[in-house]
Amino acid sequence: MPIGVRRSLETSYKFMIGSNSEPTAVWTPGPLLGLETSCDETSAAVLNADGAVVSNVISSQHAVHQPFGGVVPELSSRTHIETIEGVASQAMREAGVQWSDLTGLAVTQGPGLAGSLIVGVNYAKALSYALNVPMVGVSHLEGHISSAWLQEPTFPVPCVVLVVSGGHSHLYLMQLDGGCTLLGCTRDDAAGEAFDKGAQMLGLEYPGGPAIDRLAQSGSATAILFPRSYLRKESLDFSFSGLKTALLYKLQQMDQSQRDAQAPDLAAGYQEAIVTVLVDKAFAAVKAYGVAALAVVGGVSANTRLRSLLQRRASTSGIRLSLPPLSYCTDNAAMIAAAGRQALLRGKRAALDMEANACLAVHALTT
Ligand code: ADP
Ligand code: MG
Repeated sequence: MPIGVRRSLETSYKFMIGSNSEPTAVWTPGPLLGLETSCDETSAAVLNADGAVVSNVISSQHAVHQPFGGVVPELSSRTHIETIEGVASQAMREAGVQWSDLTGLAVTQGPGLAGSLIVGVNYAKALSYALNVPMVGVSHLEGHISSAWLQEPTFPVPCVVLVVSGGHSHLYLMQLDGGCTLLGCTRDDAAGEAFDKGAQMLGLEYPGGPAIDRLAQSGSATAILFPRSYLRKESLDFSFSGLKTALLYKLQQMDQSQRDAQAPDLAAGYQEAIVTVLVDKAFAAVKAYGVAALAVVGGVSANTRLRSLLQRRASTSGIRLSLPPLSYCTDNAAMIAAAGRQALLRGKRAALDMEANACLAVHALTT
């Protein structure tokens, strides 16, 4: 039995988070506002009654954190406080929806930075109370998974879903009933984390993923080889910490002029080691579970090389591939609204005492 299969028997759960109360009420679909403040993007999005995205406003904090080379939690929460009202109002304006027209609210409850999550959760609570509309808390991970269906609502299930972001490298099997089974995940760094830390070592700007992506385009992926970690045969888990160490050792063996001259090749080789493992494991999962569809979501799914390798492999193997447009890859509220809409349709509601949960467990994705 493949390791992934054994794991799936132990860890099978469905979408939906624990803090929402048991199904209570019928929800008549109408305009819904989604809010996302889990990390360094303040975002608000409006879905119409049919679930289509009519606005998706994203205010990035990259300029705030860039001088520090990473996200500073306190600055993140302060910036969300300053930004959320303007972002939500803009999303409503762009959607042409009045506040009094809203029929539901969805907000990221966790996981993420505590102080940042609190801003979105409290803003949603205040709106829910003032407008007297139902609210649901959404797992950020569940939001990322939902982004696969935003552009293609008919994307087939069952399918394999690869979530690759700054905090997660998770492979799921999504079943016909919407239930998700964890097939594998990272044992150390997430893929996005590997990009960010690698970029930092290469002296590139934050966020590191897009910086490596850009630099790699002028380098050779085979000039400098990096180790690929597949772990045990048939394992669907990931590990990127060894790769990071390999980059460190290579840099230590070079002087500054060599580092500068070889930066594009270093970036391209490092990136190749991450994306080939992601692609190989995703397609191994597709094969092992006999499905014909693969969705790849999360910030790292914006990577140019990853997208082209996935597209090539999907077309040669006849697998249907969902790759969200770039605006749905990194953190955005459209995906939170989409996941929240499903929750509301199932009759879920969050009470006004719902709390942000920075460590909202993956296992909380359960009905
Ligand atoms: P999280 O949900 O963990 O906050 P996001 O979904 O917002 O993460 O994704 C952010 C991560 O995606 C960062 O680690 C960033 O470096 C990475 N990322 C964004 N664009 C790219 C890209 N083009 N190539 C590789 N990684 C990328
Ligand atoms: Mg995210």
